[in-house]
Amino acid sequence: MAHIAVIGGSLAGLRAVETLRTDGFSGNITVVNAEDSAPYDRPPLSKKFLSGEWEADRIQLRKPSDIDELGATWLNSTHATALNVASRELTLNTSSVLNYDACIIATGGIARELPQQPHAQGIHQLRTLHDAQALREELQPGKKLVVIGAGFIGLEAAATAVARVALSRFLKAYLHRSFVGSVKRWV
Ligand SMILES: Cc1cc2nc3c(=O)[nH]c(=O)nc-3n(C[C@H](O)[C@H](O)[C@H](O)COP(=O)(O)OP(=O)(O)OC[C@H]3O[C@@H](n4cnc5c(N)ncnc54)[C@H](O)[C@@H]3O)c2cc1C
Repeated sequence: MAHIAVIGGSLAGLRAVETLRTDGFSGNITVVNAEDSAPYDRPPLSKKFLSGEWEADRIQLRKPSDIDELGATWLNSTHATALNVASRELTLNTSSVLNYDACIIATGGIARELPQQPHAQGIHQLRTLHDAQALREELQPGKKLVVIGAGFIGLEAAATAVARVALSRFLKAYLHRSFVGSVKRWV
């Protein structure tokens, strides 16, 4: 039976699998997915997920049952490391080798790093769910945020950070006022 390997398990990888099935492909499909989660929507990572309005379950692209129905094998937390097109072999970081009849490369984009960029606490990229989770935990009143990159993602992250901290300040002031008001009424 024919075997199609899909590298990348995000939006493009998912849509490729869905299209194969809708078009009647009934062979084996293996999705090699570097991330540890089912496909999710990245746009909210700089918006409602970063602001804390939404949690991870709101940004899943498909329900687990819809993914199961596609009948593909998902290898999560697995990287494709080499592709031999002559022998049609795909090597994984687990040292396994997949034989395929066709291979779809849906590896998307990555954030460009600065020269010698340190990987240290307080330095974030904004590309994955884990990146957004780590950043949002640090967006607290009193902290200073420097955004490198003034494209859509950088500007959205900056706007969300300002709104998140402003809301947090407002709630603090509001709760303080309500609490002090209540205490005054009691004494
Ligand atoms: C924070 C943020 C906000 C965004 N906002 C918007 C928006 O408002 N509007 C809009 O139109 N677009 C937006 N985008 C862009 C949009 O999310 C992308 O266009 C979309 O994710 C592209 O999907 P993709 O599947 O092609 O690639 P990606 O989503 O990049 O997925 C590629 C996948 O392949 C995996 N992969 C890479 N190499 C390997 C390998 N060797 N082995 C296995 N897996 C591998 C990656 O880990 C990743 O999971 C945003 C992106 C980000 C990060």
